[in-house]
Amino acid sequence: MTEPISNCARFAAQPLAGGGTPVEMWTRSDRRFAPLNIEHCPALLLVAAHPDDETLGLGATASALAGRGVSVQVVAVTDGEAAYPEEAGGRTQLASTRRDELVAAAARLGLARPIFLGIPDGEVTANEDRLQVELEAILAESAPGTWCAATWRGDGHPDHEATGRAAAAASRSVPSVFLEYPIWMWHWALPDDPAVPWDTAARAPLTARDVAAKSAALECFSSQLQRGDGPPLLAPEVIARQMAVGEILFV
Ligand SMILES: [Zn+2]
Repeated sequence: MTEPISNCARFAAQPLAGGGTPVEMWTRSDRRFAPLNIEHCPALLLVAAHPDDETLGLGATASALAGRGVSVQVVAVTDGEAAYPEEAGGRTQLASTRRDELVAAAARLGLARPIFLGIPDGEVTANEDRLQVELEAILAESAPGTWCAATWRGDGHPDHEATGRAAAAASRSVPSVFLEYPIWMWHWALPDDPAVPWDTAARAPLTARDVAAKSAALECFSSQLQRGDGPPLLAPEVIARQMAVGEILFV
């Protein structure tokens, strides 16, 4: 997930401090979403700004697709090495740790080994053109009609938004379905937030098996679940909120 950069306009107005929007505000909301139809998804390219975004945002859907024999290829744009390197042996060590965590999580979701692009954590915006070219090349090698899902362009974290923009641009190069999944939105938004394109949101259908696979995969991200000093990024309330809201995508 990696800590948002504080100069982001949205976080300047509503800094990512404390627990964020309580899970009850989402679960008590009467907002309803159209069901997302994944029946005809031939393959999925699942693009994550940082290792764990893919699992937090779309892990259960990925598991469901894989369970049907649909290829799901995760692409980690950065290694998330800027999360708290001073507590994890430095950026190189944390990058290595987080790659290993993602490989293990993908296996628990039934997915192949992820692709790691190694763009510096916190610098996706500066590398957006390169990222678009790399994603276009991966999509060109993928099965015809492969869907692409990426972190939402409005998510509030600069890396998440730049990843969404690059993936959206890359998806325009091939006939494909493009989806965006929010992560930080669940923290800063409210259920009636006008900054969120609710009319384009759809809910992925999930089974108990898919949700269990997501929970098991999330346990792989030890570096984000525990921290020597201070609260971990994937605090229990963050995980609980993410599991409770399900998997909502902007279509
Ligand atoms: Zn992230």
